[in-house]
Amino acid sequence: MKELFRERDLTRVGYCQSILEAAGIPSVVRNETLTGLTEFPIPDFFPALCVVNDDDHARAIEILRERLVTDAAASDEEVACAECGELNPGNFEVCWSCGGAVRPVNL
Ligand SMILES: [Zn+2]
Repeated sequence: MKELFRERDLTRVGYCQSILEAAGIPSVVRNETLTGLTEFPIPDFFPALCVVNDDDHARAIEILRERLVTDAAASDEEVACAECGELNPGNFEVCWSCGGAVRPVNL
């Protein structure tokens, strides 16, 4: 089992999981039940999407990247990761790629 990314918004994690499911890649969400138990948002406890088979990791990243970039293009809104510079959909708070904080491109 290998983690793909973590994100405070469980809805988005579920969305990504459904994308992988459609692609035939088994995945699980860790920390799902911890959401809401902490008063403060702690990234360690954010829901984390993981592939069941480590061998699927690279392909899963590829599929999600493609889809999320498409989504971001559709919403015409992107933010760059402060850590790795990867572009994320505008409503992401945590980089899907490295887990770092994202910030608006134009700031
Ligand atoms: Zn990043």
